Amino acid sequence: MSDCIFCQIIAGEIPSFKIYEDETVLAFLDIQPVSRGHLLVLPKTHSENLAGLAEAEIAPLFSLARRLGQVAQNITGAEGFNLIVNKGSAAGQMVFHTHVHVIPRSAGDGLRHWPKIEVSTEEMKTIAQDIASGLF
Ligand code: AMP
Ligand code: ZN
Repeated sequence: MSDCIFCQIIAGEIPSFKIYEDETVLAFLDIQPVSRGHLLVLPKTHSENLAGLAEAEIAPLFSLARRLGQVAQNITGAEGFNLIVNKGSAAGQMVFHTHVHVIPRSAGDGLRHWPKIEVSTEEMKTIAQDIASGLF
């Protein structure tokens, strides 16, 4: 897609701090990192978000994200990493070409986890059932 910034990076029309590419996937540093080594992994075929990602592209995408997470952790001296996908603007997605964030993490790095909410046992039961029945 010509108006997609990540498609433009894939096409080499916009520079990036490229880490890896093959026929299916590309990885480069996030331009506004939340930690050293924060990188993005994306499928080369354009899909707006995770819902539109072809089944066959899931394994290569997450396989590379996991491998790069471990490498980025090792080379930055971090203690762990997050793999994060923002699906939809309500979830914080700003670039509408499916991508996985790989974020090296260390204890006390200042990145906060999400606040918790209270949900009753009754509602938890209903939510679990509703999600389970929505699967098929
Ligand atoms: P998201 O909010 O999940 O859509 O994340 C989009 C990410 O893309 C943000 O973390 C941006 O910093 C990053 N980003 C946007 N433009 C570029 C670019 N030209 N090169 C590298 N990363 C970018
Ligand atoms: Zn795209």
